[in-house]
Amino acid sequence: MRLTVLGCAGSFPGPESACSSYLVEADGFRLLLDFGAGSLSALQRYAGLKSVDAIVLSHLHCDHMMDATSYVVVRRYAPDGPYPPIPVYAPAGAPERIAAAYSLEEGPLDDVYNFYALQPGSFPIGPFHVVVDRVHHPVETYGVRIEHEGKVLAYSGDTAACDALVRLALNADLFLCEASYLDGADNPPGLHLTGREAGEMATKAGAGRLLLTHLVAAWGSESETLAFAAEAFEGPVEVVRPGCRYDI
Ligand SMILES: [Zn+2]
Repeated sequence: MRLTVLGCAGSFPGPESACSSYLVEADGFRLLLDFGAGSLSALQRYAGLKSVDAIVLSHLHCDHMMDATSYVVVRRYAPDGPYPPIPVYAPAGAPERIAAAYSLEEGPLDDVYNFYALQPGSFPIGPFHVVVDRVHHPVETYGVRIEHEGKVLAYSGDTAACDALVRLALNADLFLCEASYLDGADNPPGLHLTGREAGEMATKAGAGRLLLTHLVAAWGSESETLAFAAEAFEGPVEVVRPGCRYDI
């Protein structure tokens, strides 16, 4: 499978990146992992507008779901549309939340999205075997493990350190993990990971390669985050950027 980073800015769009969104492809199937603010723009560089086959939203913070509203226009009003509804796997409440963000007067989005409420467990999406579990964040949030032909991509969503994340990332070939906070800062509890904590999660999980994401450019330091992560994880580690592609 192939991972393409569409957006990786933490919490709000950065000067060089949209918010979180990752395109995961295999066997011609295109799965969007999160759909944060601005990422619909980047999507068009790497895939046709109508070619998204399914969407997983880790949680309903704006930096992970907002462009699911803009994408309604694409699927509903395209000159060669409307396009058939696609599945959206998201926390309960997503249908109302995304419909309200789109418009308070135009009703549900059933013609565009078929919503499935996430619960901890595993299920197929196209060619992928997907495992999700609740991670540690102030709202209902899921980490995601995607398996395909013996390869594993794990994605943290937004989370503080937790055992569920280690389980999801167990022996993952690629572990795409948030590292929002600076080590040593006075960080709020139960919200996000630091670079060091991301490294510790990767070490506990035995991950093959650590990809740091969701850094907040305006508040952080990429070099410091990377250095702390590398102290806690012996394997290869890097900070992702928009347009980065990884074949797993
Ligand atoms: Zn969040």
